[in-house]
Amino acid sequence: MADAYDILIIGGGPGGYVAAIRAAQLGFKTAVVEREHLGGICLNWGCIPTKALLRSAEIFHYAENASNYGLKIQKPDFDMEAVVKRSRGVSGQLAGGVGYLMKKNKIDVIWGEAKIAKAPKGGPVEVTVGKMQKPVVEPQNPIPKGVLGEGRYKAKHVIVATGARPRVLPGIEPDGDRIWTYFEAMKPKAMPKSLIVMGSGAIGIEFASFYKTMGADVTVVELLPQIMPVEDAEIAGVARKQFEKQGLKILTGAKVTKVEKGANGVSVTVETKDGKSQTLKAERLISAVGVMGNTEGLGLEEAGVQIERGIVKIDPYGKTNVEGIYAIGDVAGPPMLAHKAEHEGTICVEKIKGLDVHPMKKTEIPGCTYCQPQVASVGLTEAKAKEAGRKVKVGRFTFRGNGKAIALGEPEGLVKTVFDAETGELLGAHMVGAEVTELIQGFVIAMGLETTEEELMHTVFPHPTLSEMMHESVLDAFGRVIHM
Ligand SMILES: Cc1cc2nc3c(=O)[nH]c(=O)nc-3n(C[C@H](O)[C@H](O)[C@H](O)COP(=O)(O)OP(=O)(O)OC[C@H]3O[C@@H](n4cnc5c(N)ncnc54)[C@H](O)[C@@H]3O)c2cc1C
Repeated sequence: MADAYDILIIGGGPGGYVAAIRAAQLGFKTAVVEREHLGGICLNWGCIPTKALLRSAEIFHYAENASNYGLKIQKPDFDMEAVVKRSRGVSGQLAGGVGYLMKKNKIDVIWGEAKIAKAPKGGPVEVTVGKMQKPVVEPQNPIPKGVLGEGRYKAKHVIVATGARPRVLPGIEPDGDRIWTYFEAMKPKAMPKSLIVMGSGAIGIEFASFYKTMGADVTVVELLPQIMPVEDAEIAGVARKQFEKQGLKILTGAKVTKVEKGANGVSVTVETKDGKSQTLKAERLISAVGVMGNTEGLGLEEAGVQIERGIVKIDPYGKTNVEGIYAIGDVAGPPMLAHKAEHEGTICVEKIKGLDVHPMKKTEIPGCTYCQPQVASVGLTEAKAKEAGRKVKVGRFTFRGNGKAIALGEPEGLVKTVFDAETGELLGAHMVGAEVTELIQGFVIAMGLETTEEELMHTVFPHPTLSEMMHESVLDAFGRVIHM
């Protein structure tokens, strides 16, 4: 048996590697076991490569519309192979950076598939590490040589940070050819002429936006009455109008009931609520109906760890019901976002250290979708605030009233703020439009500091910036809007 660790983390994604760095900073002897790639889904197959693809699409869009800015660009074109190569390169660079950070912080990286072998009460947890799993897709980086691998390891604390994988609907199993998950959608061999995207959450909408901008005929099919179902209805409505203006076809309240694969593509039967059924045809289908936690094969059930509907049950500090075993990130439940995983990892390790830690506040986790136009939000939607029995004051400010938005040529969008009418507490902020994923953090800080509406109104925002719309939206909630 190898030396005992203070903290051993299973999974080197954003949850796992950030937890490992914080643990090392706090003086813990730390190891990360990873079966495939440092950086996890986020750096290799999620957040980062999608943003690289979307950046190519964004530049292509501006090049196509260059005449709006008085510029002459002859019909722009693209090379999909090069677009994908750039995206993979960005991923590779950042995943390599995680390797460097592990080394710098003297964290052992153990390569292989981990399983909890023994979790004795009060004693160290034992973890076996087997062979590297045959990756779902080829690892972005060659596995570094000369590091730890197969064996049995002991640790006082084991943090499970094994992430998630695509949810699969029965009868609509991805085959990597006609029916894609995000893995295939991330590196298409060729540009599909037509595409159906099943599911309009962040992953589905980002791919729909990418492929539509690059010229594919794209239809999004969403089961619920609203696209981007977790977002404020008004914001999702503005986004939908813009998507449709770009030519994206959207069916809501519509269920995919059958998918037939043929030589030239897929034939998809869709049923709407009123019982009508229609058949859509496309070259490819992207299944984007959510993700599910990687809880299997980890020895969790045998160790007595509670798992509910595929999610490891934890307290607000990441602790499971079994002494010495913790879980963070996607495997510990929604929102399944990288920054939530990172924060959970930090909280978990600091709590183990005995620091005075604040518990995870899920209502203050922002969500961003990097489609065109972008969508960003934090806190309660107007509907959820009302459902919770709050009397609300709502402020709105449209991009058309903002000088910077007009100068950028981005007049479509909305900033919406939801306050408690009685206490002035900022309950939620919701935005759609250019660069809103960079703006939302202002409201996240305000919520975190429990800033009052008065303080927000007294804050000076630089001119000309898109951030002025945040100010105006707050002013509007209290009948003081200036530029509208
Ligand atoms: C297409 C797409 C786009 C996304 N875009 C965004 C975005 O813009 N912003 C955002 O915040 N989030 C985004 N996400 C979500 C984000 O990627 C996840 O929330 C995040 O990666 C979760 O981090 P994690 O550490 O919990 O798990 P992961 O990143 O999934 O990492 C888990 C790691 O554990 C390893 N592992 C699993 N089991 C074992 C085992 N038994 N032994 C050893 N290793 C194991 C895996 O190989 C993996 O490397 C996106 C996801 C997708 C799919």
